[in-house]
Amino acid sequence: MPTAFVDDARNFKEDNPFESMMSRFDNAAKLLDLDPNIYRILRCPTREMTVYIPTLMDDGRYEVFVGYRVQHNFARGPAKGGIRYAKDVSIDEVRALAAWMTWKCAVVNIPYGGAKGGIICDPHNMSQGELERLTRRYTSEILDIIGPERDVPAPDMNTNEQVMAWVMDTYSMHARHTVNAVVTGKPVELGGSQGRREATGRGLMFVINEACKKFGLKPADTRVVVQGSGNVGGIGATLLYEAGYKIIAISEIKNGIYNPNGINIPEALDYLRKHKTFDGYEGAEIVSNSDLLELECDVLMPAATENQITSKNVENIKCRILCEGANGPTTAHADQVLERKGVFVIPDILANAGGVTVSYFEWVQNRMGFFWKEDLVNERLQDTMVSSFNDVVNFSEKHKVDMRTAAYMLAIDRVAYETKMRGIYA
Ligand code: NAD
Repeated sequence: MPTAFVDDARNFKEDNPFESMMSRFDNAAKLLDLDPNIYRILRCPTREMTVYIPTLMDDGRYEVFVGYRVQHNFARGPAKGGIRYAKDVSIDEVRALAAWMTWKCAVVNIPYGGAKGGIICDPHNMSQGELERLTRRYTSEILDIIGPERDVPAPDMNTNEQVMAWVMDTYSMHARHTVNAVVTGKPVELGGSQGRREATGRGLMFVINEACKKFGLKPADTRVVVQGSGNVGGIGATLLYEAGYKIIAISEIKNGIYNPNGINIPEALDYLRKHKTFDGYEGAEIVSNSDLLELECDVLMPAATENQITSKNVENIKCRILCEGANGPTTAHADQVLERKGVFVIPDILANAGGVTVSYFEWVQNRMGFFWKEDLVNERLQDTMVSSFNDVVNFSEKHKVDMRTAAYMLAIDRVAYETKMRGIYA
C-alpha cells in the first residue's frame, strides 16, 4: 500500500498549488537525504476537517457553504495559519497553504506548526451580516480543533480584522470567557498587536532592502513592480514608496497602472479606494495583470495569488529580484527557468513571513497580558526578517542551491530534527 500523498502528487497539474509545494519538498528532502520515515510523515498533513456551514442569507434562504481547516504539522508548537474566503478555494489549495505555514514558521524559527482554513464563497457579493453569520458558524464547526494551544487562525485573502474579531468572540462565547489569543490579526482594541496590519508588507521591505544591498541597488534607482493592492501588495508598495523605491506598476484583480517614472502610491491607492478600480487614474497607463508581470524592473513583487509565474510566462519575466509577497505565486515548473535566467528569488516562505512573525508577537503579548509599543514590534520584526534572510543566503551559498531550495531545506531540516527529538508516538 503506498503511503498517502507519496504517489499521487506526481499526477497533479502545474496549477495545483499542492503539487508546487510537494515537488519542492521532495527536491529538498532528497538533497537533505531525509530519513525515509520522517519523509513519509512530513509529506502528509496531520488533520483535515471539512465542514458544511448553513448560513442565513439576507433574503431568508439558507445557503450551505463548504469550509476547510487543514492542520499540517505540530512538531514545533501550535498550528498557525490564515483563513481565506474565495470562490476558488479547494482542499488542495488549503493543504498546500497549511504546509507552507509549517515551512514558513520554521524558516523564521518561531515556535509554531502550520495550518490553513478556507471557505468556498463569494465574499464580495455577501453583506456584512451574511459574512458574520458564515464566520460564526464556521468557527463553531472548527471550535474543537482551534485554540491558543492548538491552532491559531489569522486573516488571509478576503478576511480581515473584523472577521478575526467575530472568530474570537464566537470562540470566547463557548469558552465563557474572553480568549483573545485564539486568533491573531485582531483589531488593536481587542488585543491585536501594533504593527500587525503592516507586518507582511514591512517584512517584504526588510528582505528587499537586504537583497538590494547585496546587488548594490539604491532605493531611488530600484524599479519595483507590484501585483496586488491588498494587505500585502498595497501596504508593501506604500512602505517601499516611503523608503524611496520607485514603484513603476501596481495592480488589483481587474488590471493595473504603469508609469516608468514612478507612481505616487498613496495617491493611487486612495484613488483605488474611492473608485474601486484603477480605470481613469491619471498619471499612469493601464496595464493588464499579465503584461505587468513581464515589465522590465529590478524587483518584481507578486502579492496577489498563486500561479502567476508559470511555464507559460516565465521566459518573459525581466526582473533581477523576485520577491514573493503572495503564497505560491510561482509554480515549481517555473523555478528552473528563473534559475537559468539568474533571477534572485526571495521565496514566499521567507519573504512574506513578516505577517506570521508579528502574529507570533501578538499571541505572546496576549498570553502575557502586556502590550508592546509599535517601535519594539517593528524592531523585533526587522531582527527576525534580516537574520532569516541571512540564514537562507548562507545556507544557499554553503550548499550551492538556489534560495528557494535553501529555504525549504533549512525548514525541513528543523522540523525533521524536532520530530525525531520528540519521537514518533506510534
Ligand atoms: P487581499 O485580499 O488583501 O488582497 C489581494 C489583492 O490581490 C487585491 O488587490 C486583489 O484585487 C488582488 N487579486 C486577487 N486575485 C487576483 C488575481 N487573480 N490577479 C491579480 N490580482 C488579484 O489579500 P492579502 O492579504 O494581501 O494576500 C495576498 C497574498 O499574500 C495571498 O497569497 C496571501 O496568502 C498572501 N499572504 C498574506 C499575508 C497577510 O498577512 N495578509 C501574509 C502572508 C502571505
